[in-house]
Amino acid sequence: MIKVLNLFLLFNCANCFISHLNKKCLSNIKMNNALLDNNDLPKFSKIKSEEIEEGINFLLEKTEKDFEEYEKSLNGDVTYKSVIEKQEEILFPLEYSWGIVSHLNSVKNSEELRNVYEKCQPLIIKLFNKMEQSKPVYDALNSLLEMNDLSDIEHRIVDTMSKSMHLGGVGLVNEKKKRFNEINLELADLSTKFSNNVLDSTKEYELILTNKGDIEGLPDSALALYSQQAVQAGNKDSTPENGPWRITLDIPSYLPVMKHLKSSEIRKKLYLAYITRASEGKYDNTENIKKILGLRKELSNLLNFNQYSELSLSKKMASKVKNVNELLNLLLDKSKPAAKKEYDRLKEYYLLISLSQLDELNSWDIPYWTERLSEKELGFKEEDIRPYLKLDNVLEGLFKLAKFLFDINIEEVLTTDNIDVWHKDVRFFKIYDSKTKEYLASFYLDPFSRPENKRGGAWMNSCLGRSKVLDKKPVAYLICNGSPPVKSEEGNIPSLMTFREVETLFHEFGHGLQHMLTEVDDGPAAGINNIEWDAVELPSQFMENWCYHKPTFTSFAKHYKTDEQIPDELFEKILKQKTFMAGNGMCRQLYFSALDMYLHNDLNEEDDILEVKSKIAQKFLAKQPLNEDRFLNSFNHIFSGGYSAGYYSYKWAEVMSADSFGAFEEIGLENEKEIKELGKKFRKTILAKGGGTHPTNVFKEFRGRDLNSDALLRHNGLL
Ligand code: ZN
Repeated sequence: MIKVLNLFLLFNCANCFISHLNKKCLSNIKMNNALLDNNDLPKFSKIKSEEIEEGINFLLEKTEKDFEEYEKSLNGDVTYKSVIEKQEEILFPLEYSWGIVSHLNSVKNSEELRNVYEKCQPLIIKLFNKMEQSKPVYDALNSLLEMNDLSDIEHRIVDTMSKSMHLGGVGLVNEKKKRFNEINLELADLSTKFSNNVLDSTKEYELILTNKGDIEGLPDSALALYSQQAVQAGNKDSTPENGPWRITLDIPSYLPVMKHLKSSEIRKKLYLAYITRASEGKYDNTENIKKILGLRKELSNLLNFNQYSELSLSKKMASKVKNVNELLNLLLDKSKPAAKKEYDRLKEYYLLISLSQLDELNSWDIPYWTERLSEKELGFKEEDIRPYLKLDNVLEGLFKLAKFLFDINIEEVLTTDNIDVWHKDVRFFKIYDSKTKEYLASFYLDPFSRPENKRGGAWMNSCLGRSKVLDKKPVAYLICNGSPPVKSEEGNIPSLMTFREVETLFHEFGHGLQHMLTEVDDGPAAGINNIEWDAVELPSQFMENWCYHKPTFTSFAKHYKTDEQIPDELFEKILKQKTFMAGNGMCRQLYFSALDMYLHNDLNEEDDILEVKSKIAQKFLAKQPLNEDRFLNSFNHIFSGGYSAGYYSYKWAEVMSADSFGAFEEIGLENEKEIKELGKKFRKTILAKGGGTHPTNVFKEFRGRDLNSDALLRHNGLL
């Protein structure tokens, strides 16, 4: 029951979250509750917080009743329509309305909404867990698979649903089933404990600086933050200029110290606190790690897998541990020598400038000296680029690129024209095929950061998915947290983006394209539904590459006051930044991936986890972590997120996206006619086929050959 899983799994990339839901129309329920009106786009402004609980409870009850009747109907002959399409219809109202509540919870949070959300969520999880272990549905899916009259797409949908239910324990009976459910509850509990320990031990720590001499090197923005944190902690007299300054282990607070604070002693203190989070006292995760790994193995054994890695990979594109390790080793061969060279150069620079008597760089000095070397070698600051990146120009450039590559026209619809939105800054766009003029999809864009009630990061989410049964075309939410326009004495300054914000916009737009340009009519496999976890970041990372494509970038990078194009030398510096210390960056990601895989595949009960960690670090890293390092104790991705035996997915998808972009580079990006042809092919394969075809086959159809990691290495300057 893939949709059930999709409802709760968020795919997180570094700064992106995407999740997905499917939908259909329901007309015979209480239409006075705006949340339950699912005929068209959501009526955001008419949804009242106090009506949400009532609405969701109504839908929960209705879905449960409909599902029970549906189970009974599966007694006799079954067809794709009576099993899959019927289920899609039954689940749509709840998924649609809950999708809106989750969306509002992320972009327009309030205490009231958060309370309702927390009240309803466990009920929804409970219902979906119950449906996932439905024996009648499981039997019906397997009958369909035996009948052999399904189309390829239908077969893949039924097969994934059946596998997913199998992994949900539907096939187990008696003691085994009891134990399976026990383990799942215990794992859910441990995962919450794990992330709470990380959170609480992060929160518990503070470093107060009171001496002006101690803050040397810190930028004004960091001092403002540290003073604000001091005020919040009760030190009402703190000012950015005179302190006291309160530093915490949250990343936005931690990083400026590591990168800019002159005092190595203070950096050391903060660094040691950071790498030992959740490793001692009441927030210690050491035992939780052992318990989680042990229970995961037991759970896998109940489902007849030898190791948890096999369970995890059974639903991923890589499919076998061997394939993952091959990729990691291949990338390591190229990046480790580069990482060593980069590290030696950094050390040399450090010894020269700091006149240090040491012959080694301390771990807590690395971010600081990396930053100094970067300033020297690249010679520009983020702020130098910002005036050239006005949001409206960037959007215009992005839409022009999309038209050129994929033959689509994107037109803005003013929200005053009956488009209901959740905030005045939200914009709404419609996509048409530029040849046939057919309406294809629409999307909301919520571009700016609103720390008071909007979650950080960026993500694409589905508002509506394409579906023949539900008669729906796709609608997406593209959510960014970019720099808002500023009012100043000189007048209003429009939204000026950082380079990273532009990349993020392209990234989310890439996810959106796959959601919106899908040509699959079956809801459960349309757009990003049913796509393997390790393949879903292909279109998003593919789109990021265009930010480094000179004609594309310079087409929109124009000074907001003078319209002057960004100077060539500034663009060259951006290019150079992409590969700066890239070997070390790559090795670090490979190290995390390999360690995650080893823990879920090779670990024996008698193994010492710290020894294992240090052995893998020896192999993967140019600079060894300190003995005190306990980063596993705060590795949320694999102990409380969805990345267990799956951290490698980041690199896997990056190989695919780089290799796809490589096809465009091979033609020569200046050969417009051929590039256009290839763009059309990308649309008809990668963007159109969604989760209806295995990603290996889709990729091969686009690329004409199997996956190859050369392009990724080349883009990182490692080939
Ligand atoms: Zn993403």
